[in-house]
Amino acid sequence: MVQKSETIWFDGKQVPWDEANVHVLTHALHYATAVFEGIRAYECADGSSEVFRLRDHMIRFVNSAKILGIKMPYTADEMTEAAIETLKRNKLAGAYVRPLAFVGEGAMGVYPGDNPTRVIVACWPWGAYLGEDALEKGINVRCSSFSRHHINVMMVKAKASGNYVNSVLAKNEALADGYDEAILLDTTGHVSEGTGENIFLVRDDIIYTPHLDGVLGGLTRDSIISLANDLGYEVREEPIARDMLYVADEVFFTGTAAELTPISSVDRRTVGTGTAGPVAKLLQTEFFKIVKGENPDYEHWLHRYQA
Ligand code: PMP
Repeated sequence: MVQKSETIWFDGKQVPWDEANVHVLTHALHYATAVFEGIRAYECADGSSEVFRLRDHMIRFVNSAKILGIKMPYTADEMTEAAIETLKRNKLAGAYVRPLAFVGEGAMGVYPGDNPTRVIVACWPWGAYLGEDALEKGINVRCSSFSRHHINVMMVKAKASGNYVNSVLAKNEALADGYDEAILLDTTGHVSEGTGENIFLVRDDIIYTPHLDGVLGGLTRDSIISLANDLGYEVREEPIARDMLYVADEVFFTGTAAELTPISSVDRRTVGTGTAGPVAKLLQTEFFKIVKGENPDYEHWLHRYQA
């Protein structure tokens, strides 16, 4: 169950959590005409807080709406302010931040006509997405029987609600079969991403990740590539076949919710030693230092605020 906070920013106003409701004939409920973001705020060691790459997330948010042709009534800067206002209003020093823009009531056909775009920002406390142990010990994943979207079927650069029906199918299947998470292959059979994460593998100290064509441009992915380069690792963005995962030294997921989660097995084949490998461990440790405001070299990624 989500842990309620006091208010949700709804069309420009702070609305009590239980009153932030919509009509059942909201267009987005029927046709998934909605885009969203997933952002994390962290409490820093010095007592302040920061939202990680907040403006970059809000730029992706506005771009997601543009890709779907959803009119966006707010700019990325206005959405950035809305997120900070909501975190402060709810006195949240650390939180998950969920902006959502959706097509509201009016026309009921597929064509949304002049239906208004409604926009919210909700914030709530949220721990490790895949469980506390996952960050330490890694998770067991399967390659899904569902393919990731073909790039001309769904717009994968948009964080569009409709794209997540595919993620839900894959996640449910993985959990029903006793795995923690799914890896989706694209329609050519190459590795694409997790249900809500980007994926990396390490082999002979070189880091590989699928290129951006068919996956969401994850901000954690981007951060980890920069960080890995700064630490002297070569990162190659190239097509990855499923069996590359089986013989990798390390495999790991990245994402705002998943942070950096090591993968200990793929399709019941142990990856490396079956626990967090040295590269994943190093990147995870450095990543957590950055998001907790302990590495001044990456201060430009942090939007500081005082809860
Ligand atoms: N791929 C998918 C499908 C996702 O839902 C997410 C989470 N937003 C990611 C990748 C990772 O993106 P980010 O690092 O920006 O959270």
